[in-house]
Amino acid sequence: MRVSVIRPSWEVVIRRVVVAAVAALALALAVGGGAQAWVAAERRGALAQREVAELRVDDALAAARDDLGARAASSAAWDAAGAAALQADARAALGSAVARARGTLEASAGTLGDDAPRTALAAQLDVAQSEGPTASPAVIRRLTAAVTGAEQAVHAAVADEEARAAAAQEAAREAAQAATTPAARAGASTSGGASAATDRCATTYGGPAFYTSAPTDGGDGSNGRLPGSALSAVSWARDSRGTPFYLRSDAAAALERLNAAFRAALGHDLALDLTYRDYDTQVAMRAALGSVAAVPGTSSHGTGLALDVPELPCDYGWDSAARAWLVANGPAYGWVSPAWARQGGSNPEYWHYEYRG
Ligand SMILES: [Zn+2]
Repeated sequence: MRVSVIRPSWEVVIRRVVVAAVAALALALAVGGGAQAWVAAERRGALAQREVAELRVDDALAAARDDLGARAASSAAWDAAGAAALQADARAALGSAVARARGTLEASAGTLGDDAPRTALAAQLDVAQSEGPTASPAVIRRLTAAVTGAEQAVHAAVADEEARAAAAQEAAREAAQAATTPAARAGASTSGGASAATDRCATTYGGPAFYTSAPTDGGDGSNGRLPGSALSAVSWARDSRGTPFYLRSDAAAALERLNAAFRAALGHDLALDLTYRDYDTQVAMRAALGSVAAVPGTSSHGTGLALDVPELPCDYGWDSAARAWLVANGPAYGWVSPAWARQGGSNPEYWHYEYRG
């Protein structure tokens, strides 16, 4: 028998193709629609995010505006507080500069041959004291700088003085060393023997002898008439007649301190020849010595503020170690070699020293 194969008719085939095509189209449409919906959703999401971001920006701007406003509002108060702090700082700096300078002024008392830098500093301190309390910060800063500058000038002057003293001490040490070397002693003996050396070292004063004075009984305190209550005797020496060496009490106390340092440096006490000189002795000296002696009633010895060491050139003369020490170190104790008594001065006297406090 013939197997009958049932073949689909063309109609069926076409229908199937159409159905498949329609299904494919539907699927394509469905997929396309889904994609569109997804894109739309994405876009909505992005918009929402942008809105959120914009809101955040708005918030940040508002906060920044608030901050600026707050700063502007507080700036006036801030300025006022700053100015007060500035003034307080300037005053504090001036206060410590003044305190420091006062210390320098006190510590340097009596150390300078020329007191001009200390006088200038004292004047600056007066100005700072009178103007400082009411001055503006800028003026206070200028006052501080002026005080500090004047103080530094005093420090520099003290350093100069110390350098000079050190140089003088060194020169004195060298001179003392040279004088004791065998060569120097041999030179002295070959140039005329012991008598020549003795002559060179002897005093050149050939006039009548004068002695230091005791306090004046009932003295009125004027030159040459000082009572015992104004004077003190030094502890380590008396003159050849046994009279103590009197000086005004503050000058005597300072000389005690000077002598201790002198003894430590040179190995012996400071020798004295004359200290206080009463009026009658001044009259006698003027009569004997003429214009070399002071007009009676004007001698610095009459105030108890002067001393003479022995007129022995080798012991206390111009080139002696003792004089070098006294000139360098005496001022620290208030005792000076006055300008008029120095070499080149109006009346050179290497033996004469005065107390200047
Ligand atoms: Zn004298």
